[in-house]
Amino acid sequence: MKPMGPIPPFFTGEDGMLLIGGCGAASLVEEAGDTPLFVYDMGIIERQVSDWRDAMPPMLSLHYAVKANPFPPLLQRMAALVDGFDVASGGELGRALEAGMDAAHVSFAGPGKRDDELTAAIDAGVTLNLESEGEARRAVAIAERRGRTPKLAVRVNPDFDLKGSGMRMGGGAKPFGVDADRAAALARWLIDAGADWRGWHIFAGSQALDANALIEAQAATVALAARLSGEMGVTPPLVNLGGGFGIPHFPGDERLDIRPIGQALAQVLEGRADILSGSAFAMELGRWLVGEAGVYLTRVVDVKVSQGETFAVVDGGLHHQLAASGNFGTVVRRNYPIAVANRFGEAAADQAVTVAGCLCTPMDKLGDKVALPPIKEGDLVALFLAGAYGASASPAAFLGHPNPLELLIG
Ligand SMILES: *Cc1c(COP(=O)(O)O)cnc(C)c1O
Repeated sequence: MKPMGPIPPFFTGEDGMLLIGGCGAASLVEEAGDTPLFVYDMGIIERQVSDWRDAMPPMLSLHYAVKANPFPPLLQRMAALVDGFDVASGGELGRALEAGMDAAHVSFAGPGKRDDELTAAIDAGVTLNLESEGEARRAVAIAERRGRTPKLAVRVNPDFDLKGSGMRMGGGAKPFGVDADRAAALARWLIDAGADWRGWHIFAGSQALDANALIEAQAATVALAARLSGEMGVTPPLVNLGGGFGIPHFPGDERLDIRPIGQALAQVLEGRADILSGSAFAMELGRWLVGEAGVYLTRVVDVKVSQGETFAVVDGGLHHQLAASGNFGTVVRRNYPIAVANRFGEAAADQAVTVAGCLCTPMDKLGDKVALPPIKEGDLVALFLAGAYGASASPAAFLGHPNPLELLIG
């Protein structure tokens, strides 16, 4: 038996059936027509957003990192809930604008932006978070050819990192952003080239569950923005502080209490250097906003025993939920929270079961020797934390299975 991560506190059962947003999992599958199915509960996302607004200083705005979940109906609802979108490709830019987010509140970060992506961003009037001097030169040249004033911010590769984060995005040599010691010179060059300089984008890491580490990183981020702005002698219109709030995935992980983070940040912002007194501040979050709101439902096709170990083979797999199989952003494979949706709350069988996906590779495990109620063909398996980096972050074409269905409720 191997442990699994905690089921998010929003989920309960009724008469042995998992409820998602008050609806039974089996009836959601019926409504959608088939499995595998991602269900996203907008009610949970709304709650996360309001918790964030309650905890954070009112002057801080909230951006959604679209790559966490770009499902169009979800983006449409998000557009009305948050203050801006951060996109990471030309494709996401298109989806953000289609979802109704005002271009003035969209920023576009990410390495390797092609000329056609820079052009689309400049034409639409969104802010480009520049990742290098080379990208800056291309953006300015494109804007000149289009006869436009480009909105350009500088993404800074910070000279510190977010401790305990699942994915480090700053500190040391990185393909992201411009090293802190060259950032002010680049921003100065942009202003001299006639661009509308929008400020700084500083993203130190992701998936952190340690409030103190986040508090420290945010204080260091504001200090870095002040130092760079001081070097230039110009107030940045916007400082994007990054985010990095994590959600519990694994045994022993606990939900982040964001209230002390908000209190500490409020103090940091109140005491900020004069050069930042006219600046606006934003935080960008993906996983923390939407991750817990998603459940991946997949049906048991076969139950078999091999050398004493029970396998429940399902019609889904890592082609839809790569992260849960342990092959996306983790070093050691650990179990995401998982349940039998139509036996929710029932006692576990004596023997552990391995939930295997339908792909012909030993990597395709959704649950490794987990404690589940006695499982049968036709049962519905629910894999939690499927709201972020699921459908769009998995190799759907691998083995030629159909794309998963997606359903937004609430
Ligand atoms: C991926 C990404 C995010 C979102 O990270 P989460 O862990 O999902 O909150 C935010 N900002 C940037 C620049 C990113 O690349």
